Amino acid sequence: MTLDTVFTGYADPALHSQGLFIDGQWLAGGGIPVIDPSTGDVLAEVADASVADAMRAVDAAEKAAAGWRRTPARQRSEILRRWFTLMTEHAEELALLISLENGKALPDARGEVGYAAEFFRWYAEEATRIPGEFRPTPSGSHNILVDHEPIGISVLITPWNFPAAMATRKIGPALAAGCTVILKPASETPLTAYAMARLGAKAGVPAGVVNVLTTSNPGPVTNAMLADPRVRKLSFTGSTGVGRTLLAEAAKTVVSCSMELGGNAPFLVFDDADLDAALDGAMVAKMRNAGEACTAANRFYVQSGIHDAFVAGLSKRMAAMKVGPGYDPATQCGPMITTRAVDKIDRLVADAKARGARATTGGEAIPGSGYYYPPTVLENVPVDADLAHEEIFGPIAPVYRFETEEEAIRLANQTEYGLAAYVYSRDLTRAIRVGRGIETGMVGINRGLMSDPAAPFGGVKQSGLGREGGVHGILEFMEAKYFAVEF
Ligand code: NAD
Repeated sequence: MTLDTVFTGYADPALHSQGLFIDGQWLAGGGIPVIDPSTGDVLAEVADASVADAMRAVDAAEKAAAGWRRTPARQRSEILRRWFTLMTEHAEELALLISLENGKALPDARGEVGYAAEFFRWYAEEATRIPGEFRPTPSGSHNILVDHEPIGISVLITPWNFPAAMATRKIGPALAAGCTVILKPASETPLTAYAMARLGAKAGVPAGVVNVLTTSNPGPVTNAMLADPRVRKLSFTGSTGVGRTLLAEAAKTVVSCSMELGGNAPFLVFDDADLDAALDGAMVAKMRNAGEACTAANRFYVQSGIHDAFVAGLSKRMAAMKVGPGYDPATQCGPMITTRAVDKIDRLVADAKARGARATTGGEAIPGSGYYYPPTVLENVPVDADLAHEEIFGPIAPVYRFETEEEAIRLANQTEYGLAAYVYSRDLTRAIRVGRGIETGMVGINRGLMSDPAAPFGGVKQSGLGREGGVHGILEFMEAKYFAVEF
């Protein structure tokens, strides 16, 4: 399948633009190939921004900043709401585009578009409810008035695994808060970001409020933007390693940072869990996006009494999944993003096997030109295997056995990450107690899917700083300003 076949018969063939989007203008350019991971073929080429292009984007964001900040909240809200509507109207072509450049199965891509669009609807509503405070000091000396002001020009950097949702989760609150932005999507999946920018312009986003650039040189280009004193915010989603580098860079100009980084989610199943519900949840938590999700269950800890039934049930469901190109309607598990990703999974599985793990299904990469790895269940995995500590980012479910609640909590916390965790038990009191004992920003209780635009998404430990979504997300793009008022 090619881009043209995806767009034949669709409403807006121009959706797959390939140039930089700066100051409301499309600048021609090429240099970065976009690969279809189901075949390894080149789908398109997108522009490769230089430092000078990035500076032009900062100029554009600055030129638009004062007008956007002064635009009444209701008007900003209506623009975001129109963008939501346009994404909904174009949902099918956006889903195909995501499937094509990212590889994810169409149901996952459709789910992502719906989830992504909802951030615009949610923040269209939040834009009109920005909080303030007024309160006398306890001593009665004066009055405290607190305003929330837009933080300023924001650089948004997003990964390839959710090309639409990671962008709207940042653009929505930034625009609602009154900030102008420069979005740098991942080079693997830029077409979705450019398609959404086109819809944003149609929705009435003024020139310069949202700028989008792709680059093969993300370090120098981002560093140049962070060094510019006009840039006041960095919102990054990606790996913990790159996050650390960016935090160090942002420290030089004391730029405010929000960081959504890697995960290593534990999935705990207690003897008293509803087995079918736990298996349903495990499939969602593991296989959404073929395991390429920061919230993906990375370690299954299963209590002894239910362990064998869980492994048997999970192996059966994983073995039944249809692997293929994301855009084939029959596909349930698409390809990985790159050959590098397949090699990493191969290494982790080989290490686990060498330490005594056994694959009950899958366990070997699928040869051919696409980047496929089959759904795999590993049992008898020792807790010191590399995949117990590293983010797998693929369709591998390693299962570990535990005996007691204390042991489960201890194992769950044996990681530098702290993004998401899952707990399955019919005893809600226990599930909450265990959830409180686990060091993560989010816990799914008898539920395998937790992402929702109305909820605060984010991690603790080395999984990040700050929250996206909910009422929390907009404050990441605002500064509290205190007025001491005497009257
Ligand atoms: P990555 O860190 O390699 O890249 C993320 C983004 O950063 C891309 O746009 C990339 O081009 C850019 N980048 C890379 N080096 C850079 C540099 N030196 N300076 C500036 N930008 C740079 O991550 P990835 O492989 O694209 O995504 C997978 C990772 O993202 C996983 O670790 C996953 O857990 C994480 N993730 C986290 C969340 C979350 O919400 N916590 C959500 C999705 C993905």
